[in-house]
Amino acid sequence: MTEAAAVRTNLLGLEKPELEAFVTALGNKPFRARQLMSWLYKRCEGDFAAMTDLALDFRTQLSDVADVRTPEIISRYNSADGTCKWLLRADSTQAFEMVFIPEIDRGTLCISSQVGCALDCSFCSTAQQGFNRNLTTAEIVGQVWLANRELGFEPRGERRITNVVFMGMGEPLANFRNVVPAIRILLDDLGFDISRRRVTLSTSGLVPLMYRLAEEVNCALAVSLHAPDDALRNVLVPINRKHPIAELLEACWHYIDEKNGRSVTFEYVMLDGVNDQLEHARSLARLLKGKPAKLNLIPFNPFPGTDYCRSPMPVISRFRDELIQRGVLATIRRTRGDDINAACGQLAGRVNDRTRVRLGNKLSGALAS
Ligand code: SAH
Repeated sequence: MTEAAAVRTNLLGLEKPELEAFVTALGNKPFRARQLMSWLYKRCEGDFAAMTDLALDFRTQLSDVADVRTPEIISRYNSADGTCKWLLRADSTQAFEMVFIPEIDRGTLCISSQVGCALDCSFCSTAQQGFNRNLTTAEIVGQVWLANRELGFEPRGERRITNVVFMGMGEPLANFRNVVPAIRILLDDLGFDISRRRVTLSTSGLVPLMYRLAEEVNCALAVSLHAPDDALRNVLVPINRKHPIAELLEACWHYIDEKNGRSVTFEYVMLDGVNDQLEHARSLARLLKGKPAKLNLIPFNPFPGTDYCRSPMPVISRFRDELIQRGVLATIRRTRGDDINAACGQLAGRVNDRTRVRLGNKLSGALAS
């Protein structure tokens, strides 16, 4: 990066009021910020010279002091089922991933909020690499921007990305300061203009920050539950020792009341012989019955080095049926992108910690080159 580039302001990191302030500080009318946002987010244009309805002087000014900088693509993997995964570089050593999952009626982009993760959930591949750093707002927004450019538009001009989920690498609430502005830019009608029900933040349960989230932004909430009791959840999701299930659920219902939300989605990874017995389903039903809750059962996605196994499909189906019979809305998440290691919990940049690079890891080859 040249010195000039290092001091340029990356416009992808600015919320509307900040962009207005930036534009007015350059001596321009605030409405120029709106025009600029329209170029940036409606047309995904990153080249100031191409923004033809902006005054030439303004464009020149912008190219001196600003830029539109996204994470760099190291490699792209395309699954036979249409899922795509990108390995991205944040700077010279750090890598992280994002995944696009096309379905008939929507396209979901799964983005990362941190490089690595500090929370150490025992069944998650990202946890194995430890925590490297928070992504900036621009790097978070930049993923959506970049994926939109990569994927192009539908024949009728619609975007292929209709939904965004913070289910990639990292714990989004642990990077609250950068994630909240990024969500605002995703929801802003002059930004990506995605409806609040189509942007989902998934958390392992940082309870105090769930209350703060309810004050700051309005998006859909998913919570990684994974166990119906504290003894088991302490093992699977260690943050539970600090914020046990009863506290976590209180925070969920508060969020729904505050935000007039329909329901919280609870994620529940199906681990063979660990949390997949009918008694677990019954305890779950006692916790969630009559509450604004949906349960999403995720067949465990194995990764090299893990001791856990995926529950067999008939076990998962019985588990779901037991929940439904007991009045809890439960669905099974279809695993996508298996052939490119793009599924939940398999995302790992892997470049960072060379002592932990595993044999058989497809990504390490790409990174070595
Ligand atoms: N830190 C956030 C986002 C994590 S990824 C959170 O904890 O919610 C999104 C989901 O994938 C979480 O529910 C996470 O627990 C789950 N997950 C992690 N590893 C997995 C694996 N190996 N198989 C299936 N799901 C997994």
